[in-house]
Amino acid sequence: MSINAEPLRKILQLEGEKGYLDSAVIGGLDRFLSRWTGQAVQSVTSPQLLRQFERLKLVNSNYASLTKQQRKEWVNKVFAFLPELERVEAGKVEVKPPQEKKEEEVTPPPVSRRRPAAKKRRAASGSIDSPITTLKGVSTTLAAKFKRLGVETVRDLLYFFPHRHLDYSQRKHISQLTEGEEQTIIANVWETKVVMPGGRRSTEAIVGDETGNVRVLWFNNPYLVKQLPTNSRVVLSGRVGLFNGRLVFESPEWELLEDKELVHTGRLVPLYSLTQGLHPRQVRKLMKEVVDQWAWQVEDFLPAELRQRCNLFELPQAIAQAHYPENEAAKDRARVSLAFDELFILQLGVLARKREWQEGQPGNSFNIKTPVLDAFLSSLPFELTAAQQKVLGEILADLKEPKPMSRLLQGEVGSGKTVVATAALLVGAASDYQGAFMAPTEILAEQHFANVCQLLSRAGEQVSEEENLRRYSGLLSRPLTVALLIGGMNQARKQEIQQLILSGDIDIIIGTHALIQKEVEFKRLGLAVVDEQHRFGVTQRSALRQKGFNPHVLVMTATPIPRTLALTLYGDLDLSVIDELPPGRQVVKTKWLKPAQRDSAYAFLRKQVAEGHQAFIICPLVEESEAIEAKAAVAEYERLSQEVFPDLSLGLIHGRMSVAEKDEVMHHFRSAELDILVSTPVVEVGIDVPNATVMLVESADRFGLSQLHQFRGRVGRGEEQSYCMLLAQNPSEIGRERLDLIGKIYDGFQLAEEDLRLRGPGEFFGTRQSGLPDLRMAKLSDVALLELARDEAIRLFGKDPTLKKPEHRLLAKELARVWQKGGEWS
Ligand code: ADP
Ligand code: MG
Repeated sequence: MSINAEPLRKILQLEGEKGYLDSAVIGGLDRFLSRWTGQAVQSVTSPQLLRQFERLKLVNSNYASLTKQQRKEWVNKVFAFLPELERVEAGKVEVKPPQEKKEEEVTPPPVSRRRPAAKKRRAASGSIDSPITTLKGVSTTLAAKFKRLGVETVRDLLYFFPHRHLDYSQRKHISQLTEGEEQTIIANVWETKVVMPGGRRSTEAIVGDETGNVRVLWFNNPYLVKQLPTNSRVVLSGRVGLFNGRLVFESPEWELLEDKELVHTGRLVPLYSLTQGLHPRQVRKLMKEVVDQWAWQVEDFLPAELRQRCNLFELPQAIAQAHYPENEAAKDRARVSLAFDELFILQLGVLARKREWQEGQPGNSFNIKTPVLDAFLSSLPFELTAAQQKVLGEILADLKEPKPMSRLLQGEVGSGKTVVATAALLVGAASDYQGAFMAPTEILAEQHFANVCQLLSRAGEQVSEEENLRRYSGLLSRPLTVALLIGGMNQARKQEIQQLILSGDIDIIIGTHALIQKEVEFKRLGLAVVDEQHRFGVTQRSALRQKGFNPHVLVMTATPIPRTLALTLYGDLDLSVIDELPPGRQVVKTKWLKPAQRDSAYAFLRKQVAEGHQAFIICPLVEESEAIEAKAAVAEYERLSQEVFPDLSLGLIHGRMSVAEKDEVMHHFRSAELDILVSTPVVEVGIDVPNATVMLVESADRFGLSQLHQFRGRVGRGEEQSYCMLLAQNPSEIGRERLDLIGKIYDGFQLAEEDLRLRGPGEFFGTRQSGLPDLRMAKLSDVALLELARDEAIRLFGKDPTLKKPEHRLLAKELARVWQKGGEWS
């Protein structure tokens, strides 16, 4: 139970003799100190002493950065502290709680006191990655309860942060107490007894200070009588109520005032999210011990210079202050420090992957100065918008490089992404590379095929039309060949097309993700365009690479992803945004209707149909299963066709139908044989039917803003004014807020930000996506912090791309640890 200060004393002496040049130990004084202090604090039980350690900066010292004069002063201060440390520690055995179980550890035999005790303590403590059962007082039963909270090791426990703090820091005298507030007093216990208000055995105490007395009642808890002896000093924190005209403390948190730091009262007190069988007081007490003893041993992996520049706490301090903050400011700074760590490691991870992707294997450099591009652009019936031009420029700049592009293109439905992608594919073909255009569904693949062919048909001359294949002359020195490959087509034709791809005869192949990744062998794949609803991550990209190609990759998404999420989920991609719609696009008038207005909604729909337009009706979301959802949709379809619109022709589409069935219905709708298309929300139909002018969404309050916005993007694609009507039975408060916002905001990005705010990141994509990083402290609203973390990560990689420098050793270790655990994040 003591500290060997001798080595430190010697080193400091030598340091003085050598003129404070930080040359007394190899590796510098800071490193020595962190080791010495790390061991020393394990034996320190007194909080006062620990604070002294901190004050003297023995913990996380920064000796190297001091001036000579400062070093001298500091060394002298530490010298003065050492005897005090040895004296106090040797005699301070009784500081520990009296009912300590391991008696022999508390009062070791007087002879050979030092060493064995210290050894024992260290042996008992083990490493920070040991299971929590190595902690004193943690049984396997308790450990099992923590396991349910995801806490298995000491490190997990240190990172098990409170979800909030109670502010019990406002100390009052008894005479200053006011009703209804959280307050803290320090008082003498005059008397305690068991009372029976409402038939419940409870503890009543009368406590007092120099300004007066107050009654305290712990309802339904008679046990405190024994724990609060008369004349003991007690700290009480909690609400004060009024009872029979007199102030009463109502079941306050309490603790005896001893020579220890307060844990439950009189400060910012942490509240942990607990599971059954874990009690707040028990957990707080354990956490305090663990934080005091172990936080100092967490290795700070951030380079010191970076930590200083960003004004962050040292990691041990950040952890300690996140649990038991000295004040609000320290609590906030602790959160920011820990959040930065998370985001920084995350960014290092995604950037490392990007590097690996771009430098692991050479890519293909395209010749972007090709006449085909100009011919294509000038053949378009419109000018590219400024945003399209900018994005195309960014893409072309990537394509001409020999390292593979990895770029995310965001743009709302109808913002003109397909045109830009087609231009990129053409440039690839002009350089004799094949391009793949992948869609999430077969319907969309077909639509892309139709769109691309239509765009090309203006620039080139179509020379042949075979099943699912087109050739255009006049663009390249040979005919440019475009083909569609989907599961639904006939087997023989599929094989023919696969053969043509392998022989290099097809320049642009359009299909679904699955087909292109799994079944197709290319001759010379140079560019993969991925139109995605969800994610096309590292795994998918490496699948392509394993086929021997290192293509440029362009991921396109119509879901406006808030910047924080984009940088987190797609941090390894460069970001391009088309933030402008082609001119003349109309706003889809959106209105939230009351249940009583259902009939007028149907009437409005009928009127639009009478004017020759078409309509969508989106059925409610059924979370349980696709089967139930489909069943509900069938019932709704029947009700609508028989009772509401018996004179119109209706079609139905749901997720349980085969691709062929869906295609057939879609075909009928597109050719206007159907007036109304009833659809489940799963079929987030990415279809282009300009004649559809009205959409009715059932149970609209259950959808996220981004999803509603996607829905209404299905109408308003033609010249006519279009409408979106939202029905909701009994919207919750958040539901109401969403319905209000969707009628007011027409900008997808702004809606996405609102969505994120209202729903949180987990649900942002409609379903909980696996692979979202486990962020405990960072919030997706921490935009500035995220940008800072990203900038710092880029800067660090600039200096030390492989993290091989000694000062980055710990960082490399932490990166490996987190990413191994976090798995596939992008
Ligand atoms: P996205 O793929 O982003 O949903 P598309 O590329 O399919 O959008 O474009 C939607 C429609 O707008 C298409 O009919 C397309 O021809 C047209 N379009 C694209 N760019 C422009 C533009 N700059 N001006 C006018 N119309 C455009
Ligand atoms: Mg599109």
